Amino acid sequence: KSKSTSGLHVTQNNSYIQRIQINRSIPNANNNLPQKPATKPRKLPLTSSKSTPNFSQANNLKTQFQKQNQKQKVTHEEFKAALMCVTCDGDPTTHLKMIRKIGEGSTALVYLAVDKQNRQLAVKKMNLKKQQRRELLFNEVCIMRDYHHVNIVEMYSSFVVHDELWVVMEYLEGGALTDIVTRTGVTMTEPQIATVCKAVLQALVYLHDKGVIHRDIKSDSILLTSQGQIKLSDFGFCAQISPEIPKRRSFVGTPYWMAPELITRIPYGTSVDIWSLGIMVIEMVDGEPPFFNETPINALKMIKDCVPSKMRHSDQVSVVLRNFVNRLLTRTPSDRATAELLTRNPFLQLARDTPCLKPLLSKR
Ligand code: ATP
Ligand code: MG
Repeated sequence: KSKSTSGLHVTQNNSYIQRIQINRSIPNANNNLPQKPATKPRKLPLTSSKSTPNFSQANNLKTQFQKQNQKQKVTHEEFKAALMCVTCDGDPTTHLKMIRKIGEGSTALVYLAVDKQNRQLAVKKMNLKKQQRRELLFNEVCIMRDYHHVNIVEMYSSFVVHDELWVVMEYLEGGALTDIVTRTGVTMTEPQIATVCKAVLQALVYLHDKGVIHRDIKSDSILLTSQGQIKLSDFGFCAQISPEIPKRRSFVGTPYWMAPELITRIPYGTSVDIWSLGIMVIEMVDGEPPFFNETPINALKMIKDCVPSKMRHSDQVSVVLRNFVNRLLTRTPSDRATAELLTRNPFLQLARDTPCLKPLLSKR
């Protein structure tokens, strides 16, 4: 990729121009927040059960923090204490040894680590003070822990270490799909693209059925094992919908992959993930999403202004693939296919067993 998507996230309801420019190179995005004295009365549910608050409880915590954050009333220490209610006790540095850095995103550094039995693990470290919306860290702790699926990265534990949240999870040796789609000279075949789509759709059917919207579907969020198995990761931007709150409004995601309704600020549902998957299919064909040469702001504007999100190499792909992408990149959300419906799309019949992806890995 000529451009990294790190730091391109947008996570606020307004002023996205300013938000896009905030990235992890800024030492402390919360520095300008007034720090309240630690003796301030506690208004947050810090007493919630240490055992296993489920995602909806964590979501309540998240919502409360959002409201409190807006009023700038939550100190760093209070926030950290609340996060410690949902993470494990103990010091992971006593049993985990960091080997090397394996990834970097807009909110985190990811390390390969080994435990005392010499098992390889991945540790995602997020600085509490460098988050645009720190309440989203509850997602990092609760989603992978509570939702288990063969196509979702398995999480083992989480800790608060000094001013960082550490999430310990399975290590996916094959790395991110981005490494494959951006490597020069590598072209994915249609059966390989279908195999990836099938796995991601299976994860989405599972999540959407539970009312979870991922909100950051892109090749960077798709990880592979050395055997070519596909797993969805990076749940930092998830949102929960329910019969009471069936739509979300926040402006969250990575610009080039964002659905038109989200950009135009229409309340949205799970179908924003389907649009982003459509953009990810284009990444698998073209190596990058549409409008990638544009600035993020221009790209958002173009998606909003109905400039078609086209595949550059559409003449080189089958009609079946083109039709599949059209079902994903339908502008009107209610006309867009659901994950469930897409699992029966003819294109997915091209999907093979996951070892078909191994040749892509061996060229790493
Ligand atoms: P983003 O800005 O893309 O949202 P982030 O800060 O939320 O990123 P992740 O996407 O979770 O961080 O991780 C960043 C990168 O680290 C991934 O794209 C991947 O290359 C690597 N990575 C993350 N988790 C794992 C894992 N379990 N095994 C192997 N590599 C991983
Ligand atoms: Mg993320």
